[in-house]
Amino acid sequence: MKTKETIRKIVKTIFFIEIIKGLALTLKRLFSHAVTIQYPVERRKIAPGFRGQHALAKDVEGKAKCVGCGLCATICPSQCISVGREKGKVSRYEIDTLRCIFCGFCVEACPYGAIVLTENYEYSGYKKEDIYLTREKLLFNWDKFMAGKKGEEYFKRFWRPMSEDFETPSIQAIWRGRH
Ligand code: SF4
Ligand code: SF4
Repeated sequence: MKTKETIRKIVKTIFFIEIIKGLALTLKRLFSHAVTIQYPVERRKIAPGFRGQHALAKDVEGKAKCVGCGLCATICPSQCISVGREKGKVSRYEIDTLRCIFCGFCVEACPYGAIVLTENYEYSGYKKEDIYLTREKLLFNWDKFMAGKKGEEYFKRFWRPMSEDFETPSIQAIWRGRH
């Protein structure tokens, strides 16, 4: 058995089998379609629900939904969200994008539907600050990428089940108030 294997190895080495195989593969690829594209002239279609850059959601009146409860920051495995409150208002909301792993836990944890992951992947910069997300940038992202129907449908399409998907069991005790 061992001799057979040794002979096979010798034959492969003498006749450059692996090199020939490699060259054949290269030759085959030469005449097939390129898998690369000429970005940014050409762009790939993004799959719906793609987890890209964050945005802070606004309500129908254009006000930020975030109340600064900090649940998203607590659950974030990368600890890249920082939330601050002053005098009962959200004073600071920042995301260090370089540390984010786009797991979406922040979106799942938020009880107000106040944070989303947009489909935007085209952001880069020469400095860390260029892609560091402040509250202003995050709210701007909502207007730019999620305004209108898109923002309305976002949670229904990509973040189910939601509380409305669950029915109250018929035997569930329900508080009906004092009589
Ligand atoms: S997507 Fe995940 S890693 Fe990124 S900010 Fe949200 S919870 Fe943190
Ligand atoms: S985004 Fe949601 S979970 Fe995070 S601080 Fe704002 S309201 Fe709370």
